[in-house]
Amino acid sequence: MYDGRTNYIAGRWRAASNGATFPSLNPANTEQMIGIFARSGAEDVRQAVEAAEQAYPQWSRVPKPERAALLLRMGRLLEQNKEELARLMVLEMGKVLEEAQGDVQEAIDMAYYMAGFGRMPDGYVVPSERTDIYCAARRVPVGVVGVITPWNFPIAIPSWKIFPALLAGNTVVFKPSEETPGLACRFVELLVEAGLPNGVLNLVTGYGSEAGTALVEASGVRVISFTGSTAVGKQIAARCGEQMKRVSCELGGKNAILVLDDADLELACKGALWGAFATSGQRCTAASRILVQRNIKTRFLQAFVERAAGLHVGFGLDPQVEVGPVINRQQLRRVHEYVAIGQQEGARVVTGGSVLTEGDYAKGCYYAPTVFDGATPQMRIAQEEIFGPVTAIIEVSDLEEALAAANATAYGLSLSIYTTDVRKAFRAMEQLEAGLVYVNLPTSGAEIQLPFGGMKHTGNGSREAGWVAMDYCTEWKSVYVNYSQA
Ligand code: NAD
Repeated sequence: MYDGRTNYIAGRWRAASNGATFPSLNPANTEQMIGIFARSGAEDVRQAVEAAEQAYPQWSRVPKPERAALLLRMGRLLEQNKEELARLMVLEMGKVLEEAQGDVQEAIDMAYYMAGFGRMPDGYVVPSERTDIYCAARRVPVGVVGVITPWNFPIAIPSWKIFPALLAGNTVVFKPSEETPGLACRFVELLVEAGLPNGVLNLVTGYGSEAGTALVEASGVRVISFTGSTAVGKQIAARCGEQMKRVSCELGGKNAILVLDDADLELACKGALWGAFATSGQRCTAASRILVQRNIKTRFLQAFVERAAGLHVGFGLDPQVEVGPVINRQQLRRVHEYVAIGQQEGARVVTGGSVLTEGDYAKGCYYAPTVFDGATPQMRIAQEEIFGPVTAIIEVSDLEEALAAANATAYGLSLSIYTTDVRKAFRAMEQLEAGLVYVNLPTSGAEIQLPFGGMKHTGNGSREAGWVAMDYCTEWKSVYVNYSQA
């Protein structure tokens, strides 16, 4: 169990400089502590940034294939430790085991995928207008990268940010969510085992309002890569703007699944169930709105509600369990408040709508999978991110109304349509305002070969995974060489 020495700075594990700590708890049983972690402040962040600055000149000169070899070794270690990491994830943040294994698998895939880029072109040569002039452009690292991550994909998201940053030759200061510091420590321990040189990646555990803000303010940090809520992302983007610091923001979502009357209803029902309730609805891509064409709504609703009501809620190591707890008691209250708001707005709870308190549920943060009927696109439950196992059915008359309703939020992460009409599918692909569009698939799930991220208030235009992941942590440098003789 971790004992407070959880900052990894300049190749050494240490406590916070003022000795402060915080606990990490199991959301399925909040009496169970996962460990005690360093509660870092500005001084710890200063030391971590200094270590990263000192390591940068050497690391950025290591040949790229050699940096890639570190990622290859990390990929193998993640594979060897996949089961242990997944089980820790169930304990620390409440995912069910299969989803936790998927989270680790994304990191494994990302390690191997990015390692392949170690031998790919990182620039290009162009013909010059003049004689004996060589013109080329190549990507160069930015310097020290600050990585701030949420808890809901505690191994996958750090890997999406850290692997490209390291491969490109940057050094990193990593501030994980205060909800999942144990997983962050395991991730860094494996990187160390893989051969991470001292100072190349530094970990500071702690709260966003303390370690997180200090990292955003640190003058030695050249770029911040942030995934989290839109409210925090906006603050960070504003502060980075004032400092002319680059910033990549991957923020909240209010995703919708459109179900048209020509859809394969069984497929749509299964997809919507997964989209709405996987990870207890705590995914940036969670389907918290289901826009159903009026003439099939009764049929869809009946099938969907029956299945939602039958979902097995509980502790994720039990193979029967399909939906785990929400992350903490504060989030449990927030979800319940949103359910009350929905009811006040005139929507009707058709299943769920309550905190689960019977028996073992009382020890954890469990909310019954909840479906609203009779919601309308402008209600708060259809506009604001709830981040819990709650979804709202909204009736629409046709494709046009469905597209308009789907686009009528501030967010633009993930939208999906179920239809068997290829013309409607293509219309939706064109008109849906989202970074990710799915046809006959739920809103959750992404392949790392493709850009991941959102439009509008979901982000500031940056994308993760795929080859575009290099964009956030590199800059272009153009060079001109005159090799003519006087
Ligand atoms: P959060 O915004 O509360 O915290 C995210 C991280 O930021 C944590 O490490 C936290 O400690 C830190 N932080 C908080 N305040 C800070 C501040 N003022 N300065 C610097 N750092 C600060 O989000 P969360 O609850 O951890 O995660 C859930 C949110 O993340 C949801 O809104 C979800 O949609 C979003 N999310 C988005 C994506 C995406 O790719 N778009 C992926 C996963 C999660």
